Amino acid sequence: MSDQQSASNGVFKFYIDHDRPNCIGCGACVAVAPEFWEIKAADGKSDVIGSEKQEENGEVVREVLNIAETNYAKNKEAADSCPVNVIHIVNKETKEQVI
Ligand code: SF4
Repeated sequence: MSDQQSASNGVFKFYIDHDRPNCIGCGACVAVAPEFWEIKAADGKSDVIGSEKQEENGEVVREVLNIAETNYAKNKEAADSCPVNVIHIVNKETKEQVI
């Protein structure tokens, strides 16, 4: 289990919110932050490693992963690199959607 997953819940200042159905599988997020993102061979879209999956009719419609502040910059970079803007990062305290 990685640091961001094993840390206690109190340190998680942000969460990643991945609109997975609209991912085009370009791989940019994986190139930027391979410790958080991977391409799923079955459908070619990216997955947030270790995320909570929300499903509808057997399809993952959303992935959510809490992250510590120390992992913010890397995932913000991944979100910035996404050509279709399906990676969002939310500040858990203020509820502000950073991207
Ligand atoms: S950068 Fe965006 S479109 Fe490309 S694989 Fe990642 S989430 Fe999908």
